[in-house]
Amino acid sequence: MAVPKKKVSKSRRDMRRSHHAVSAGAHAECKNCGELKRPHHVCPSCGHYDGREVVAAEAV
Ligand SMILES: [Zn+2]
Repeated sequence: MAVPKKKVSKSRRDMRRSHHAVSAGAHAECKNCGELKRPHHVCPSCGHYDGREVVAAEAV
């Protein structure tokens, strides 16, 4: 099994982790109902996409 030759210093370890932050996911407002939805996805609350209903809206 491959074994690291040297201990990774706190500085190197933390520099590596500088890219690990998570950012908020993308979201867009539905043109039909105004609900926040994922871009390029059918609106889960009204079933619309690109201004028309493509999936029957779920019964409330
Ligand atoms: Zn909608």
